[in-house]
Amino acid sequence: MSNERCDIAIVGAGPAGMSAAIAAARLGASVVVLDEQRGAGGQIYRAITDAPARRVDLLGPDYAAGRSLAEAFAASGARHLTNAAVWQVTPEGAVHYLRDGATFTLQAERVVLCAGAMERPFPIPGWTLPGVFTAGAAQILLKSADVVPVEPVVLAGCGPLLYLLGWQYVRAGVPIRALVDTTSMEDYRRALPRLGGALAGWRYLKKGLSLMRALKRAGVPFHTGAENLAAEGREGQDGVAALRFTAGGKAHCIETSTLLLHHGVVPNTQFTWSLRARHTWDDAQLCWRPKADAWGALDVPGIHVAGDGLGIGGALAAARQGELAALGAMHGLGRITTGERDKLAAPLRAALREHLRIRPFLDALYRPKKANRIPADDVIVCRCEEVAAGDIRHFVALGCDGPNQAKAFGRCGMGPCQGRQCGLTVTELIADARGVTPAEVGYYRIRPPIKPISLGELAGAE
Ligand SMILES: Cc1cc2nc3c(=O)[nH]c(=O)nc-3n(C[C@H](O)[C@H](O)[C@H](O)COP(=O)(O)OP(=O)(O)OC[C@H]3O[C@@H](n4cnc5c(N)ncnc54)[C@H](O)[C@@H]3O)c2cc1C
Repeated sequence: MSNERCDIAIVGAGPAGMSAAIAAARLGASVVVLDEQRGAGGQIYRAITDAPARRVDLLGPDYAAGRSLAEAFAASGARHLTNAAVWQVTPEGAVHYLRDGATFTLQAERVVLCAGAMERPFPIPGWTLPGVFTAGAAQILLKSADVVPVEPVVLAGCGPLLYLLGWQYVRAGVPIRALVDTTSMEDYRRALPRLGGALAGWRYLKKGLSLMRALKRAGVPFHTGAENLAAEGREGQDGVAALRFTAGGKAHCIETSTLLLHHGVVPNTQFTWSLRARHTWDDAQLCWRPKADAWGALDVPGIHVAGDGLGIGGALAAARQGELAALGAMHGLGRITTGERDKLAAPLRAALREHLRIRPFLDALYRPKKANRIPADDVIVCRCEEVAAGDIRHFVALGCDGPNQAKAFGRCGMGPCQGRQCGLTVTELIADARGVTPAEVGYYRIRPPIKPISLGELAGAE
């Protein structure tokens, strides 16, 4: 398996990766798709290939829709390496991965990175207490193993995934003590002018509204416009005991042993940063995006990006971007002409535009609050190395002007998560403390291994 070669290597078997693979294989490419999950599906369709009918029904029609895509992918002729954690992609197209405790290398003519999104860090006081999870993590347990909390939970934050999980929990019989929504009237006022675009994406809008209605019908108590969120423990008790917040001019304290936080997802840019590709700061989505052309091609020749890793657009947009990247890669390999590429791309571009029309509205409505992104001094920011926001402000006062210097000042971003949990917060914190834009501050210099790998595994590389 070592030094296997292929035309196109695709990292990630979510909607973008599966669609890219189907499109490239259909055009005659040898395709290998690598994913650390045990089956195809990515985040939205996680475990779709072996999910029992009962779970598929519970998770809803958007989840079930993944089955036909996964079947088309399985029949596409692309080789799928499951349980393959990719720890490095080089500019020369070498894909290094870890599988069953051994490392391997795949050499590709073109690489399409479809590594998806990650949840945005939600650094509020107490977010590191046992019992505080992200909503996405809780959903992973549900999708992959039918694991749900038995004690009443509190969901807090904003965004479609939070409401979707609430709806799925209601269907799974999970008691929800409260949904604490940070969305305020001001957010609605900001989003309203973007409604013109959203009307074209009315299906998405209708879906979102019906989720909220279902939650309210199920009697889930709602608190909107929540501010000053803080998770609290209790004397003599290990985990979280309550969520405190203010809403409607009143202070609230809701007891819970399971608090699920979420305020959106952001592109997973670990690979693109490690490849030294150019990135831009997206102020609408408050995150970094790799700079790519209309085919997802980076300024690193031979490497493309598709799906949420390029900017958050949702599963259907990710699938179209995957197909476009496959066309771009096939054209780059000289396997299709410019005319063929452009003809095949035209309907994909039209569909992509349609799927993305809702974004400006969603980005404005669910823009995460500054207080929930740039925390007070005593809040831990880098969970791996236990570096607090106050430490980082102190580093800035000492002359630290960016995330890379912050590593040297206090090890933040140097733990096993490689800055995934703290990177965005550190960029925004330093920018805020210096009074400059995040673009001026930059991001961590990400180096392989992207995924933790032991020295023994590395030494055993074939
Ligand atoms: C936790 C979470 C849950 C979500 N749930 C939903 C949902 O229920 N409904 C919804 O509409 N949207 C959901 N989303 C948003 C959803 O991810 C996107 O809309 C859509 O799935 C994006 O497709 P994609 O193909 O770009 O990426 P993804 O679907 O995220 O697929 C990326 C794939 O890359 C793989 N990967 C990443 N890094 C590596 C690596 N180093 N080595 C090997 N494999 C790697 C991952 O295992 C994953 O399978 C969720 C997002 C997150 C972060």
